[in-house]
Amino acid sequence: MEEQPEEEAMPHTVTLKQRKEYAGDVLFAEFSRPADYAFTAGQWCFLALPDRGIADERGLRRHLSITSAPEEDHLGFATKISDSAFKQTLARIEIGEEIRVEAPKGRLHLPADTDRPVCFLAGGIGITPFRSLAVHSTRSSTGHRITLLYSSRTPEEAVFLDEFQALGGENARFRFVATMTRMQQSQRSWAGREGRMDSQVIREEFPEWERGAFYVAGPPNMVGTMLELLAELAVPEERITVEKFMGY
Ligand SMILES: Cc1cc2nc3c(=O)[nH]c(=O)nc-3n(C[C@H](O)[C@H](O)[C@H](O)COP(=O)(O)OP(=O)(O)OC[C@H]3O[C@@H](n4cnc5c(N)ncnc54)[C@H](O)[C@@H]3O)c2cc1C
Repeated sequence: MEEQPEEEAMPHTVTLKQRKEYAGDVLFAEFSRPADYAFTAGQWCFLALPDRGIADERGLRRHLSITSAPEEDHLGFATKISDSAFKQTLARIEIGEEIRVEAPKGRLHLPADTDRPVCFLAGGIGITPFRSLAVHSTRSSTGHRITLLYSSRTPEEAVFLDEFQALGGENARFRFVATMTRMQQSQRSWAGREGRMDSQVIREEFPEWERGAFYVAGPPNMVGTMLELLAELAVPEERITVEKFMGY
């Protein structure tokens, strides 16, 4: 994994407002947002957690994508739960407790050219920056035509599922399509697509694929799979933007 600088300019202190678990596998945490914490949709930041007596060699600091939009008054994050000290501490801090967030970073932003249709390709936890971008585009009426293709094992595990469905009704230029790969493990009814994401799904659900811009985010394996699908469609590299969640 790439070395990250240890020192960051002036971290901000934020407090935990709410936390939610999805199917026991994904944790969503919402923090207060300092008035002077400016970021652009799709960015990430380092979170540094207080010591709650759980330690490992990787420590209590990680980069996570910001799931909230700049138009919102809070900072949201979602992560897959693991045994690491960072994740176990994040799962234990209490409402009202303080953590530190560092300066926002990253260049996952919408194209300047709003004529070019955009497709977000997300699998599992790779959905995180796309909530920020989709909410931003809706709240600020950026004019982008966005299709979000989201692959999840079950609806229970699909973070922000209800929100994305609602956003589709609110913003005529935002189209949301989810596909579930393990409905046999779900207790919820699902009227949408089932099965793995493949190049045929992309062609069907994003008919502008021959000229559209693609955004892919998530753990390296998932990003690799999505890039293989785009290679099958011969999408040139200059139309693909990637955010790899190194550290998975
Ligand atoms: C730009 C960016 C945005 C990200 N956004 C998100 C996000 O929104 N949500 C999210 O869940 N994650 C995100 N990540 C990844 C996140 O920072 C964590 O790395 C990831 O969640 C795994 O954390 P963990 O505590 O479970 O890791 P661990 O369980 O500690 O380790 C995960 C894997 O890394 C290996 N590993 C252990 N120590 C090291 C080490 N020192 N160096 C390298 N590998 C090691 C382990 O063997 C294991 O295979 C993002 C990463 C980047 C770079």
